[in-house]
Amino acid sequence: MTFDQERAIQRLTRMPLFPFEGEFRLKELAPPMDEELGRSGEGDKPCHRCTNADGILWRKGAWTLAPIFPSANPAGLFLETVEHMDFENFDDEMAAEYGVITRHLEAAIRGLPSVGRVHIHRFGDGAAHFHVWFQGRPARQLELYGWGNNIWAQVLPPLPDDVIEANHDAVLDALVAGYGGERV
Ligand SMILES: [Zn+2]
Repeated sequence: MTFDQERAIQRLTRMPLFPFEGEFRLKELAPPMDEELGRSGEGDKPCHRCTNADGILWRKGAWTLAPIFPSANPAGLFLETVEHMDFENFDDEMAAEYGVITRHLEAAIRGLPSVGRVHIHRFGDGAAHFHVWFQGRPARQLELYGWGNNIWAQVLPPLPDDVIEANHDAVLDALVAGYGGERV
């Protein structure tokens, strides 16, 4: 089967999830870099998290939560490890903790009336702390379903800080009640 790039572009850009209108031309890929980019906290790159604990809202054992700002989503939280580590450093106990926290945090965010579903992303390209994006996708807003959320949330005006903070308060109260840990 031959690949029709024009068709692929049309299919993508005509989806309700795609945030832009007009004619699109695909950029040329640059040649691969000589090596992978260094992440924050690796090599001589300073770690933004280790040098700045501001914004941490919750902690338990090896884990913390911090808000994702700004955002058009009603709730957005980073689940991070206190230490520099990644999946390859997890033992089964750590992996199990990650699963259980994920279950409780997803339920807490999903409990907000303004959230339709919780999107959970692990990219891992930017920082040496294992970190996972928990995004509460706005309820009933078609364009922000699925991958559309990643782009729309960056270009829509963010929700007011007090709205997001109240939502995060409710999420963290539910998390502490259901799983434990402490608000910071
Ligand atoms: Zn660090």
